[in-house]
Amino acid sequence: MPVLSVRDLRIGYRSGGRLVEAVRGVDFDLYPNEALALVGESGSGKSTLGLGLLRLLPRTGQITGGEVRYRAPGGDQVEATDYDVLSLEGTRLRRFRWSEAAMVFQGAMNAFNPVLRIGEQFADTMRAHAPEGRLGREDIRERAGDCLRSVRLEPGQVLGSYPHELSGGMRQRALIALAMVLEPRVLILDEPTTALDLLTQRAIVDMLQELRAERGFAMIFISHDLALASELADRVATMYAGRIIESGTADDLFREPRHPYTAGLIGAVPTVHGGALEPVSIPGAPPDLARLPAGCSFASRCSYAVDECRTTDPGLLMVTDRPAGETSHEAACLRWEAVRMPAMA
Ligand code: ATP
Ligand code: MG
Repeated sequence: MPVLSVRDLRIGYRSGGRLVEAVRGVDFDLYPNEALALVGESGSGKSTLGLGLLRLLPRTGQITGGEVRYRAPGGDQVEATDYDVLSLEGTRLRRFRWSEAAMVFQGAMNAFNPVLRIGEQFADTMRAHAPEGRLGREDIRERAGDCLRSVRLEPGQVLGSYPHELSGGMRQRALIALAMVLEPRVLILDEPTTALDLLTQRAIVDMLQELRAERGFAMIFISHDLALASELADRVATMYAGRIIESGTADDLFREPRHPYTAGLIGAVPTVHGGALEPVSIPGAPPDLARLPAGCSFASRCSYAVDECRTTDPGLLMVTDRPAGETSHEAACLRWEAVRMPAMA
């Protein structure tokens, strides 16, 4: 059973007296222990979707429709959980955040309060969001220490430090530890490695894989880097203009993309083997969300587009149907059968 089921989620931003939709009807299921990568160019709605799932949108943002169902199995002492996150308020919402689902925000390297020691920030977060109410000092130290060790930081050093005393890579690890501290079932990471050098990126991706295996959380990994995402994810979804336009296994999308936009994104990745290969970017720019064209929103940039594409948006079509429990490959393209990988040279 999915831990998160998102149905027809719509999110808009108020701007100049009107509401512009930045997430336009997104559906997906996230299973326990699964890693889903959301990829797409800047402005495609990845962060808006992540923030919306946790109900952490800025003031101008508004969820205008849909459902985000969260489920957790019961145990000896606890009842099974099944509710729509969009209906939570007050204390229940605060506890959902961090203890059921947590997020490492985009550009979060500066998310720590500069005047508080890291240890105090762990304590604040845990006191505000722990489901079991007040936690003692010892309990807090122990849990924070445990999480820091699991991201390979030395608690004795880090808890007493101010954020500026840590390197970028260490701060990012500490933020991941902070997100895990209340053992959420869902962890959303928004571009967690973007500001880091390649070696540190690699170390963090490897670490996330280990943590997921060890702790069993489900992960939503947001990235504009399809290569990085496909290394880490069981399933990859491409976003364009506020919609998921292709979804499948990392292999499906990387080796046999069936939406011209995904194929273009792969072409835009400079290959590691290619030496001096220049990234080929997709010509044109994403549409203005306030003035979306009829039909497929990618049509004006698409070399496969035919007349019908300018009038019809097909939604996700089945490319490869797989048995229940496995990831099927779907693409929102009328011409998916014609789509080929771009030439890499
Ligand atoms: P990036 O890769 O740059 O992080 P993204 O895929 O995360 O991009 P979002 O930040 O979700 O994209 O933005 C989606 C759309 O919503 C964009 O058109 C953006 O301009 C708009 N948007 C984002 N935040 C706000 C805001 N606070 N107010 C108004 N519009 C916003
Ligand atoms: Mg973003």
